[in-house]
Amino acid sequence: MASSSTKMEIIPGKDRFLSATRPIQPGEILLTDQPLILYPASLSYLEIFCSNCFRIVSSEQFRCMTCNIARFCSARCYSSSHPTLLCHALPSLIADELQLPSHTPDLIFLLSIYSTSADSILQLISLPSPDSPPYSLIEYLETQFVRLIPRNMIPRHFSHGITFKLLSVEKTYGLPIYGPRESDFIDCDIHDIRAYGLFFRASHIKHSCLPNSCVFNDVDDPNRQGDTTFVFKALDWIGEGKEISRSFVDDHLDMEYDDRFRMIKGLKGFDCKCHRCDTEKIFEKNKLDKGKRQPIAPYAHFIDCHVCHHCQGCLAPLPPSQDGVVSTVMQCNKCGVQVTKNQPDPPAAEDASSRTV
Ligand SMILES: [Zn+2]
Ligand SMILES: [Zn+2]
Ligand SMILES: [Zn+2]
Ligand SMILES: [Zn+2]
Repeated sequence: MASSSTKMEIIPGKDRFLSATRPIQPGEILLTDQPLILYPASLSYLEIFCSNCFRIVSSEQFRCMTCNIARFCSARCYSSSHPTLLCHALPSLIADELQLPSHTPDLIFLLSIYSTSADSILQLISLPSPDSPPYSLIEYLETQFVRLIPRNMIPRHFSHGITFKLLSVEKTYGLPIYGPRESDFIDCDIHDIRAYGLFFRASHIKHSCLPNSCVFNDVDDPNRQGDTTFVFKALDWIGEGKEISRSFVDDHLDMEYDDRFRMIKGLKGFDCKCHRCDTEKIFEKNKLDKGKRQPIAPYAHFIDCHVCHHCQGCLAPLPPSQDGVVSTVMQCNKCGVQVTKNQPDPPAAEDASSRTV
């Protein structure tokens, strides 16, 4: 059922997006996707998380025999190992003082992504990507890249053009795995990002600040055993044929327009022109003109229903029952908390489109 609830729609020469193949209930799974690559957000997290699935490592048992740095949570993850170029570069990357240490995450990403297949890289660079990293940054990262690995390990497709495009794609589409929900780690909590994943199919879900889906990826769930599938769930009723959307910054859905717009531009590299932003932009202008402020009812309801009071993550209903009853239990995709909320009634047939983004 999950795999058939959405399909990729292609408008030749223009656009690709995911749409619903049938009416969808709140809480239904829309898509499950495996990352083309998962990579750590920081070198300091290599001691805490499995370098393959990024769950918390609880024993000293499995450590990479090549770099002697990366750790793994199980024999299965140990045998899957971690990106070859990153593995090779880690000892120098940790020992050296980079001139620009703030760009270590970019280097970790490039060393990871250039370790994957040329096919994965081709898929990623086919995605539309609005951000333009400065040429000086590309030059710096490439200099470091070739310094950290031997000449014979440099992939044949390593080039300015591909590095530029990969960095741009990563900024826009990188999906976070947040820090542990409960832990004693001083340097990493639920608001930190432990790792990022990059996807091909799921990257065709467009951004909206009033999304109709959100993504779950609780890698520490003891039932998942190293499973790195990301699960996209419906937030609301979605009519057949309607486009699926998600927020690329879904722990900031309650931010006001100006701050949210700037944050999306800074973190994701694009000017958000979604329906909510267009409406709130006019609202902000009117507020300045008239010196008064009124809540926008549809968005206030969405925020009340879908923003977690504990961590600002996104709340989605648990899956509907076998006989199609929508759950009143909402779960946060970041901290995992469950709360009970009344769900809206299904839309009338002719009204289906107005309930979706
Ligand atoms: Zn693992
Ligand atoms: Zn290694
Ligand atoms: Zn927006
Ligand atoms: Zn939460």
